[in-house]
Amino acid sequence: MVLIPGTAVVTGASRGIGRAIALELARLGAPVAVNYAGRREAAQEVVDLITARGGRAVAIQADVAEPAEAQRLVGEAEALLGPVGILVNNAGITRDNLLLRMKEEDWEDVLKTNLSGVFHCTQAALRGMLKRRNGRIISIASIVGLTGNAGQANYAAAKAGIIGFTKSVAKEVASRGITVNAVAPGFIATEMTGKLPVEVQEAYRNRIPLGRFGEPEDVARAVAFLASEEAAYITGQVLAVDGGLAL
Ligand code: NAP
Repeated sequence: MVLIPGTAVVTGASRGIGRAIALELARLGAPVAVNYAGRREAAQEVVDLITARGGRAVAIQADVAEPAEAQRLVGEAEALLGPVGILVNNAGITRDNLLLRMKEEDWEDVLKTNLSGVFHCTQAALRGMLKRRNGRIISIASIVGLTGNAGQANYAAAKAGIIGFTKSVAKEVASRGITVNAVAPGFIATEMTGKLPVEVQEAYRNRIPLGRFGEPEDVARAVAFLASEEAAYITGQVLAVDGGLAL
């Protein structure tokens, strides 16, 4: 598999799925900007791992919920590593609760980070991609954006929003050689899902046709494919990586 040229910016790459995506894109030869919100040491560890394996990477703190920070993230990535060819919108948070108990701030925080963050980073990276007439934008949605999930109205709304956003922007920029796709993971073993009670985790596992939780690397390989030359004719799609959970 051959990645399209250019730097890869991966948001929320200090741990979990974003970390695996950063490592996979670096393994395939891309210089990688490892974005994080607060965990500087974890992000630096990802950078050190990439560097030790002979790749190029930098850690860049930026809150994707803030438009100016998303602009700075892309600006610093370009200044330090070169023009951005691949943007992976991965940063995300959960603030789960049943709707009647959901606080205004739980709704707003999740929408701002998970959906507005995708808007901010995509807008920041798109200008250069349009000029160079090449680029890949890949956003991490979730199968709950397709199926819904009790206790996650805020999160599912944001993830469904990513899907509508992806299809719209795919249509806007297709004529300029830029593809825009979403990956929809099911249940992936990370800190995000590790917070769930063991009984809930087990109930999920029993519903997964492939019989296991996904690993961050399962998602990373799908993202790398969409960022590759081989995926040049695929745009506006939502690729579920869920072991069959949403079937
Ligand atoms: P995670 O382990 O909780 O990691 C979240 C990452 O996002 C961290 O790197 C965190 O940085 C970063 N982040 C959070 N808020 C941010 C902000 N405002 N600006 C920049 N970075 C921010 O999550 P994960 O499980 O790997 O999930 C990654 C993505 O996949 C999310 O979009 C999530 O919704 C989606 N997803 C996950 C699953 C799953 O089963 N795990 C399923 C479907 C979809 P710090 O380390 O600095 O805090």
